[in-house]
Amino acid sequence: MNTPAPVCVYKSGSIQEAHLVCDLLQTAGIEARIASDGVENVVGEVPFQIAGSPIWVPSDQEQKARAVLAEHRANRNLKPPPLFCYHCGVDLEDRIATCPGCGGELDWSED
Ligand SMILES: [Zn+2]
Repeated sequence: MNTPAPVCVYKSGSIQEAHLVCDLLQTAGIEARIASDGVENVVGEVPFQIAGSPIWVPSDQEQKARAVLAEHRANRNLKPPPLFCYHCGVDLEDRIATCPGCGGELDWSED
């Protein structure tokens, strides 16, 4: 056996995100795979949804994988963060002065 030890390069909160990131890495030619925590001990016993979804790549592909992930994060950050009322949490379309959900006053000025 001369397979490089796998390295965890990413840990996503959801299986959907894990698949997305895994596809991204595989498209870049990296042998990425998704595994639950402690997969050596509990194969088939812990659902991914509960254990979290770390993504593993062979250690000799780690640097390339991290570059792909950095680019993925940069692309995602281009989207503006979602707006929401900080009194009641309702989603807002725009920076409005009064929340339509709770009627609270909203101050959008930067500190
Ligand atoms: Zn509100």
